[in-house]
Amino acid sequence: MAASIERLCVHTMTTKPWSLREAVEGYAAAGVRGITVWRQHLESYGLAEGAALLRDSGLGVVSLCRGGFFPHPEPSGRQAAIDDNRRAIDEAAAIGAPLVVLVCGAVPGMPLDEGRRQIQDGIAACLDHARDAGVKLAIEPLHPMYADCRSAVTTLKQANDMVAALASPWLGVTVDVYHVWWDPDLEREIARAGSSIFSFHVCDWRTPTRDLLNDRALMGAGCIDIPRIRGWVEQAGFGGWIEAEIFSDEHWGMDQAAYLQQIKTAYLNHV
Ligand code: ZN
Repeated sequence: MAASIERLCVHTMTTKPWSLREAVEGYAAAGVRGITVWRQHLESYGLAEGAALLRDSGLGVVSLCRGGFFPHPEPSGRQAAIDDNRRAIDEAAAIGAPLVVLVCGAVPGMPLDEGRRQIQDGIAACLDHARDAGVKLAIEPLHPMYADCRSAVTTLKQANDMVAALASPWLGVTVDVYHVWWDPDLEREIARAGSSIFSFHVCDWRTPTRDLLNDRALMGAGCIDIPRIRGWVEQAGFGGWIEAEIFSDEHWGMDQAAYLQQIKTAYLNHV
């Protein structure tokens, strides 16, 4: 069964050329009900102004992207990361976002298990702050091609292990099909994650991929079986927003209102 349009959320990074105001107005005009806000769009707009804009928009504010980047060779760098994540939690609370998504970080040359240890410690140091603010945190495992400098957490199993170790209702996972579609353990780990699945991101894997970061495809234009993964996620109990998160130089070069219509069509046909 097709996903209903009511569940579609779009990331401000998906329509990167738009300001926060243009995104809010463009999504509302297109009948998109949910928005995930990236910090750079919020920063350039202003936190208080952005919060007021979002509050008045009637859009569902789904999450703030992104916190994370915990590992650092120096303790001072790790503390700076914790401070920044606490600020992200405060920003999320200010804009009414119930969730901060964590791109956990990695340092080139640092062993990945050491990176994961530092990530776990960093998250642990933020959980009280998250609880006090009423904002949840979600670990988003990234595709292993980013293990050098973006995330030492590369599988849903590693994310689930961390959630189990920290055992807090304020910590869960984000399942992004782009990052986890290849994983032979995916179905099992999605079932294991269960109610700790806090968010679900979709786009597609373009063949050939021309750029490791900014060549994601519209849903249906790549090789990921998105309906199958959505089925697993929903079987695990997730019934929340379905978020279109598409980094694409090609699509950022288009008229963004026309592109948003393509996103809606791709969502209705291929999610
Ligand atoms: Zn994502």
